Amino acid sequence: MVKSQNLLTEVESKALLKKAGVPVVETKLARSKKEAISISNELGFPLVLKISSTDVVHKSDSGGVRLGLANATQVGKAYTEILSSIKQAYPQAHIEGVSVQPMAPPGVEVIVGMSKDAQFGPVLMFGLGGILVEVLKDVSFRIVPVTARDARAMIREIKGYPVLEGYRGQKPASIPALEKLIVKVSQFVEKNPQIRELDLNPIFAYPDKAVAVDARIILE
Ligand code: ADP
Ligand code: MG
Repeated sequence: MVKSQNLLTEVESKALLKKAGVPVVETKLARSKKEAISISNELGFPLVLKISSTDVVHKSDSGGVRLGLANATQVGKAYTEILSSIKQAYPQAHIEGVSVQPMAPPGVEVIVGMSKDAQFGPVLMFGLGGILVEVLKDVSFRIVPVTARDARAMIREIKGYPVLEGYRGQKPASIPALEKLIVKVSQFVEKNPQIRELDLNPIFAYPDKAVAVDARIILE
């Protein structure tokens, strides 16, 4: 188990980001299976269920994320399965419940992160999600505050930029939406110096918008 008292849950992180004008997938906390099913009926299908616990940093590593749930029966089953695999992987974890959110359609996956540099303070990172970011470290950085002009430059300077313009029939990502999102994140971290680390991983980018499907905030 990771000792991470300063970790906010996905639901808490997304609520703060939404308030700050950063687009996130609507996400609700269910504290029981019954509640998960009633929230599901309210949100509509397909849905995603994820473990909600400040003791679980990487939710999908231990069976804590279930995608593409098509009906209430699948939601109920996923709820039970998530809880049992998390209890097995982290017997000591305090489990708050599960988060319930619509399954976002596929888009170009990007990530935005913030970490604090001893010398420069908060620094934002932008990159493509998935393998490109993990293996090739194809990312760009700017010191907060990040202006619209900076955001524009940091998006264009990654090697994978052509991916954002669309390739092999894949739809392009809205660059203006990404620029706006980066500026909003910069304003958010500037206003909240108690945030030590922030991770929007992944953000799904579409031709007309960009939405974070996962969010993680760590406080000082
Ligand atoms: P982790 O804590 O492991 O990073 P995530 O919330 O990022 O968990 O979920 C793991 C993966 O599941 C994501 O990288 C993304 O590909 C997919 N995913 C998560 N939430 C959604 C969603 N709402 N819609 C579609 N795909 C999602
Ligand atoms: Mg994630």
